[in-house]
Amino acid sequence: MRKKNKSYPIRTCIFCGRKDFKKNLIRITCFQQKIGLDKRQRLPGRGAYICFRGECIEKLATSKGLKRLARALRQPLSQETALALRQEIEEVIKRGEHGKG
Ligand SMILES: [Zn+2]
Repeated sequence: MRKKNKSYPIRTCIFCGRKDFKKNLIRITCFQQKIGLDKRQRLPGRGAYICFRGECIEKLATSKGLKRLARALRQPLSQETALALRQEIEEVIKRGEHGKG
């Protein structure tokens, strides 16, 4: 029997479908109708996960990616929101913030 490991949950990237530890992915949440990055991965509400691969981050701002994220969050989002998210993710990568907090 496999041992349950509660501290390392696995999530799937909504774009490439690759599975990774939750802490290695970016969480996007829709919290109180506001879509944003959940850097600490602690906000309640529906979340979508994206991995740090450049191609997945790029997909965020495409119309296809937009639709997929909207479906995952069950919340429509505008291109501006998607672009802002992508920018925020790029900032997180630049500052090496991911995986911390
Ligand atoms: Zn991915």
